[in-house]
Amino acid sequence: MPSQILDNALGGVGHTPLIRLDKIARLHGLKCNLLGKVEFLSAGGSVKDRIAKAMVEAAEKEGKLIPGKSVVIEPTSGNTGIGLAMACTIKGYSVIITMPNKMSLEKEALLRALGAEVVRTPTEAAWDSPESHIGVAQRLQREIPYGIILDQYRNVNNPLAHEYTTGPEIIEAVVSTPSTSERPSSMKVDAIVAGAGTGGTITGLSRALRKSHNPSCVVVGVDPKGSILAVPESLNQSDNGGQYVVEGIGYDFVPDVLNRTEVDTWLKTDDEESFAAVQKLMRNEGLLVGGSSGSALAGALRWLQSDQGREIANTPGKNVVVILPDGIRNYMSKTWFLKLAMETQSPLAGTIAQVLGKPD
Ligand code: PMP
Repeated sequence: MPSQILDNALGGVGHTPLIRLDKIARLHGLKCNLLGKVEFLSAGGSVKDRIAKAMVEAAEKEGKLIPGKSVVIEPTSGNTGIGLAMACTIKGYSVIITMPNKMSLEKEALLRALGAEVVRTPTEAAWDSPESHIGVAQRLQREIPYGIILDQYRNVNNPLAHEYTTGPEIIEAVVSTPSTSERPSSMKVDAIVAGAGTGGTITGLSRALRKSHNPSCVVVGVDPKGSILAVPESLNQSDNGGQYVVEGIGYDFVPDVLNRTEVDTWLKTDDEESFAAVQKLMRNEGLLVGGSSGSALAGALRWLQSDQGREIANTPGKNVVVILPDGIRNYMSKTWFLKLAMETQSPLAGTIAQVLGKPD
């Protein structure tokens, strides 16, 4: 985080820490360094703050936004919306967010608190139907004066924000942390694991890491079962009818900003393993991450146990970075979180019951 006085909250976007996941690495017998890029520590609470800021600032430079008049309309699973609402309330633009019903109440409440209007759309609507979050945004934009869609699915500033900020921050953290006998480091990013929604994160990171830092960095994509982003196509068969609970990753179309040729390998994850991995991150590392962070970790652990990942997993000093895109405070009212939180009993529960004379 910059140490000087910031002009406004947008100065607090990004600059997130890379944190060792040592306990989880030990639990899984990994010899490599397992590192989490903790994006809920960005000002708006997610990895998507970066692209919201970049898309708004680029549109301003191009003269596409007029303070007091422009209405920024965006279809999103919520986090891009929160970043946009934050940027736009600071800069004086109105915001309408279209968001599928499945996305959490917490995201809607935050959006409304930031002054945005929120329109919910049916989760099951195909992306190209007029009822989908994308279709509704387009219908609104056609009718609303000064309406503009910055369009995270096509906007080059989406992958660029990660190529210019997320990637360089990861590289900077890895190259400036010395290698010691206790904590050996290759001083390079050897593999990166990220989930894909628009695909901006993984595409931008692949470019940042491979262009100038380490051309042989392995880029691993994570896609939920029910989505169609993974390659080869055969991975995408699923029996959940395209429905899954994890938010922010997976789609029924391939967004323009996702360049799948820049991803080496894909893993498919399900809700159950994702939420178990969220619990693992909380209980072992004290990290208050959201569902897609669990998917990324579950994918990373599976890849590190695969034929392709085993060599890196078994080599001390190799650095494997997992992107943890948002925080659990986006999901506190979700059944999956309440179950995970309320059904885990502390080993002290029995003692407390004994002391207080109550049944445990
Ligand atoms: N996780 C969460 C919680 C998200 O909101 C998003 C953005 N849709 C992602 C992961 C995936 O990021 P990207 O759109 O860059 O692929």
